[in-house]
Amino acid sequence: MSNLEYCQSALTTLKLKGISASLNEVLDEAQNDKISYLECLRKLLHIEIEDRNERRLKRNLTGAHLPVIKELEAFDFSNIKGITEEDVNNLLDFRWIDNNVNLLFLGPPGVGKTHLSVSLALKALEKGYKVCFERASNLIKLLKTAEIQRSSTFRINRIMKSSLLIIDEIGYTPIDRKEANLFFNLISELYERTSIIVTSNKGFDQWSEMMGDEVMTTAMLDRLLHHAQVYSISGESYRISQRKEE
Ligand code: ADP
Ligand code: MG
Repeated sequence: MSNLEYCQSALTTLKLKGISASLNEVLDEAQNDKISYLECLRKLLHIEIEDRNERRLKRNLTGAHLPVIKELEAFDFSNIKGITEEDVNNLLDFRWIDNNVNLLFLGPPGVGKTHLSVSLALKALEKGYKVCFERASNLIKLLKTAEIQRSSTFRINRIMKSSLLIIDEIGYTPIDRKEANLFFNLISELYERTSIIVTSNKGFDQWSEMMGDEVMTTAMLDRLLHHAQVYSISGESYRISQRKEE
């Protein structure tokens, strides 16, 4: 076995995929540029770290289940009230995630609640945070089937281990008592452990009607809002104003 063959097989055993893929290239470069052994080692280690970060980001992006890719840079703050570009830029230090603070985006359809949530999720993923995105209706389905369906159990476990859970569209469909109870239990378990972004077209005064139980809704809001920033966004629906422009 040649030295190169030995190194490649060792790299496979040690699961150093990044170094393995670029070993030849770096060795050629080292020979041509006459760099020191230490510098060569440094180069290889750097490649491995970058490769791992990239693969983790890809894995986390797939696991987040984002419904669409919406970049923050494409968001236009000029026609909405209730949240400013500065507010959002301040959120990009992600101290709110480190401190398990929740964000609530309330407002009518089309003002960009989902867009903003996805944009923040993308930036958080880039920083290495683990994120899960679920529409409220699907989250309830998962909770209901978690005991009998492996894929649901798997998803709920991933949610529990995430740094950020996005619950999109709370309030679009009313839920029954049993569902509300499952939902309450989830929020209680995540309380002070995981950040949650909630988007809703309903004000808090309408939540108990939607959940069908005032005591439980109050207890749930109590947990959600204990450490939270609430943004009540208003403005014309972006979809409608785009159509008018066209
Ligand atoms: P909501 O979740 O509040 O109903 P969405 O985030 O789904 O609204 O926005 C609807 C569509 O309009 C999406 O395609 C979104 O990218 C776009 N959109 C909404 N608000 C803005 C905005 N301020 N700047 C750019 N695009 C926007
Ligand atoms: Mg939405």
